[in-house]
Amino acid sequence: MMENKGILYLVPSPIGNLSDISKRIIDTLNSVDYIFCEDTRNTQKLLNLLNIKKTTISCHEHNEKEMSFKLISYLSEGKNIAYMSDAGYPAISDPGEILVKEVSKNNFKIIPLSGPTASLTALIASSLPTSHFLFYGFLSSKHSERIKEINELKPFPYTIIFYEAPHRINETLDDLYNTLGDRKITIARELSKIHEEFIYTSLKEITSLNKEFKGELVLVLEGNTLSNEDNDLINIKDKYNELIKNNISKKDAITSLSLIYKINKNILKKMFMND
Ligand code: SAM
Repeated sequence: MMENKGILYLVPSPIGNLSDISKRIIDTLNSVDYIFCEDTRNTQKLLNLLNIKKTTISCHEHNEKEMSFKLISYLSEGKNIAYMSDAGYPAISDPGEILVKEVSKNNFKIIPLSGPTASLTALIASSLPTSHFLFYGFLSSKHSERIKEINELKPFPYTIIFYEAPHRINETLDDLYNTLGDRKITIARELSKIHEEFIYTSLKEITSLNKEFKGELVLVLEGNTLSNEDNDLINIKDKYNELIKNNISKKDAITSLSLIYKINKNILKKMFMND
């Protein structure tokens, strides 16, 4: 299919270190007609440093849909546009996804530039498996919703990457430990900045320290490495606790779990002897 004329460039910005700006990024910013960005003040600072003079237009999470129409009208006039979020890749826990959807629907070319993103920068030095992984981004800020999300991720066998704010990290680490049990975790802090730090630890160890975290953080968590049998045991324990919490008697809980998991009642009785 023939593409329309204007081009949308998705331009990454530094996650800390300004030297991560590539020549291609500079050339692209110099060549486009307008720069749409998450925060014009932020992007303007960067443009000043790079000595680039361009009109910036604000496009953030609260006006992205309407601004996509404006952007498309510029593209229709044959103008080329760059989109930048505040840090890292646009559309990765940042605005950009709606723009891309609308622009591609209208048959304009989209060119993504490579550059820094906190997720992959953290992953490659995490010492956790990198062949398969899930980028989850931010867990919900609501406690009950967050627990639900973590429970859904429980069986996932591959490395999981989370973004988190420093004021919520201890709560999130507690929730991860209480819901998943012990797992390896790498905390990547202040990537590409002066105080960059990688903490290679486990959920058990880090939650016991009640450490104070400062700066920006990525959590890289080991996937579920337990065997099916071990996972079943954990599920049985969770189900048992849930039944008891709902005032089901110990005897009835064991009978029902024995039917669900096809396990002899005596084995279950032994398992929950001290509960
Ligand atoms: N679009 C960005 C990207 O591609 O990485 C992510 C933006 S998101 C709003 C901000 C989150 O990314 C932070 O809360 C933190 O979890 C992570 N982050 C961004 N910069 C970071 C850095 N220098 N070091 C560690 N984490 C960072």
